[in-house]
Amino acid sequence: MRTSLIFLITMSLINALTAQNSEKNEFISALMSEMTLDEKIGQMNQYTGFYDPTGPIPTDGDAKTKYDHIKKGMVGSVLNVRGTKDVRALQEIAVTQSRLGIPLIFGFDVIHGYKTIMPIPLAEAASWDLESIEMSARIAADEATASGLNWTFAPMMDVGRDPRWGRVMEGAGEDPYLGSLIAEARVRGFQGTDMSEENTMAACAKHFAAYGFAESGRDYNTTDIGLSTLHNIVLPPFKAAAEAGVATFMNSFNELNGIPATGDIFLQRSILKGKWNFQGFVVSDWGSIGEMIPHGFAEDGAQAAEIAVNAGSDMDMESHLYIHQLNKLVQSGTVDLSVIDEAVKRILGVKYDLGLFHDPYKYCNEEREAEVLNNTSSMAQSLDIARKSIVLLKNKNDILPLKKSGNHIAVIGALGNDKNSPLGSWRFGSVDNSAVSVVEGMSQYQYNNLSYEEGIALVNGETSFANELDINTSDRTGLKEAVELAGKADYVVMVLGEHGYQSGEGRSRTDIGLPGLQQELLEKVFEVNSNIILVLMNGRPLTLEWADQNIPAIVETWHLGSQSGTAIAEVLYGDYNPSGKLTMTFPRNVGQIPIYYNCKNTGRPGPQSQVFWSHYTDQTNDPLYVFGHGLSYTTFEYQNLNIEVDGNTVIAKVTVKNSGNRSGEEVIQLYIHDKVASVTRPIKELKGFSKVSFSQGETKVIEFVLSEKELGFYNNEGDYVVEPGAFELIVGEARKVN
Ligand code: BGC
Repeated sequence: MRTSLIFLITMSLINALTAQNSEKNEFISALMSEMTLDEKIGQMNQYTGFYDPTGPIPTDGDAKTKYDHIKKGMVGSVLNVRGTKDVRALQEIAVTQSRLGIPLIFGFDVIHGYKTIMPIPLAEAASWDLESIEMSARIAADEATASGLNWTFAPMMDVGRDPRWGRVMEGAGEDPYLGSLIAEARVRGFQGTDMSEENTMAACAKHFAAYGFAESGRDYNTTDIGLSTLHNIVLPPFKAAAEAGVATFMNSFNELNGIPATGDIFLQRSILKGKWNFQGFVVSDWGSIGEMIPHGFAEDGAQAAEIAVNAGSDMDMESHLYIHQLNKLVQSGTVDLSVIDEAVKRILGVKYDLGLFHDPYKYCNEEREAEVLNNTSSMAQSLDIARKSIVLLKNKNDILPLKKSGNHIAVIGALGNDKNSPLGSWRFGSVDNSAVSVVEGMSQYQYNNLSYEEGIALVNGETSFANELDINTSDRTGLKEAVELAGKADYVVMVLGEHGYQSGEGRSRTDIGLPGLQQELLEKVFEVNSNIILVLMNGRPLTLEWADQNIPAIVETWHLGSQSGTAIAEVLYGDYNPSGKLTMTFPRNVGQIPIYYNCKNTGRPGPQSQVFWSHYTDQTNDPLYVFGHGLSYTTFEYQNLNIEVDGNTVIAKVTVKNSGNRSGEEVIQLYIHDKVASVTRPIKELKGFSKVSFSQGETKVIEFVLSEKELGFYNNEGDYVVEPGAFELIVGEARKVN
């Protein structure tokens, strides 16, 4: 009886969806039958914001051309125009002045919050808290849509193994399993269950693919990776996003094994639109169609457009090549009209799903904009996820948490008083200098005596496009005061690391130690007072060997967003017990890079008495802080790992006890090692985790169920295989003991 009821409900859902789909298909077919070739190509063209659309209409130059193009139906999307007024003004031109009145779709990089800034994605990943990550994207979508936007270029799901690459801050770290779950959570957060709601927006899985494997961590550089890495490490988060219904994909700047991703038929047609049956559209990355010329893959703009469109890049972001070349290419028979039709159908499909044909101004409600953007309640969520993103790297002799009264605390470091850097590098919808600084956060605890010295200043201002951004490398004038202050204090909180624009796009670094004179400042202060709590702000793993050897407490706070200082102060004073875990390995030095936990064993794993094993002669193989590492103010004991095998399912149970003297949360991690396989497997692969709260003294039994989904892998043909054989299961903590 129950089964048949469920069956009936399922059937009626399927019927409703089929009816919706056929309505959508009919609508799009009817519209497309009215469209000229130029109007079709127009839908495939995306321009960046070009002038103040609410100001006077430009009479010459690029802006005038683009404006005319909207009128002629030659633009399908605009990026970087936001605010209900500006969006409405451009939408009105498209809807009322172009022949067919097809609405524009408005894109923007809503990466970690819009007005309320959330922790950078790498930080959020360290929370291992999928619900909070989803909530963070949900709030961002709520605010961005209130501001006229309906498409975010997020989430970025590039697996990163190289901290020299500045864009690791935008991703979820080095693990494809966790990365996939986070990708799904973010897609759900942005798109909700119904993309046509006024507060949900289309998400974009980017950058497809392998952009995170740029050689030597230099942004935009060549990518050359094997099939096993491609299928098992790079692609899974993208596949997960496609399965979660992400509306769009963005391809990437890099070439992959000799083929620029933008022109890659294998990636875009065979895998994405073929094997994965992705129904949305693919946008190029900024100018990446044109960049196939310097890549040496296309002779000129015409050939670049031809290669890109045939390879499955549906929309041209700012190369201006589709708009100039595609018509001629179709007329000459070089590009088939069906290729254009397919791209346009996909683009119109996303517009349809957003409900833009029903109401093109649905994101242009000024009242909603004022209400949502002035609503400060989302700050509570920003604070919540900021706390959860903090990772306690070291806490020798329990120097933390600090006592709330009776101490003189010195805060030292330019980042300690900085209200801008915690906002990270993608925060254009927000207000500059609007984060709570560490000094502000700590001054909420009034019963200590708090003083501040900068020590080493920030230089070159902080602008998002400047090439030279640094923390002072030559001016030592502030050192003396800082050292003097440190000498008088009971504890020194040193806030050091990267300023907000020191990681992110185009911000690759070869030396990932503390930038500028900060290391010198740290060592000078240490000479007069060793009671140092090092609070790190950064968008990537740093090399911290000296600090790890000498400084008693190290707290990784990344760039935590609007509520940064409050979250940090709560952790330092013990009002919040840290529970974050690293999702990217911290190397000891740059020479170890790439270094990641899910590496292979090699034929000579060692250690051996002779020199001929896989190692360095000047450094150990192990990292400074391993993936999964993160301490708490309490301690956890793991006991009684029990494994049952039932057919192709494995059930693992472990008893975890909070053995310390306060309540806390633990991320219990389960790894497998497939010992022998037809393609070698990593020494450890994360295949399950559970974030659990424990009161003091509490014991819980945690259960994991592993099925074929977790126990198989992709072979070099890209097929998922599950092979019989022995597996090791590792459950527990990935902690470095001080
Ligand atoms: C970045 C993308 C971004 C796009 C639009 C590009 O430079 O690589 O991630 O979405 O610009 O701003």
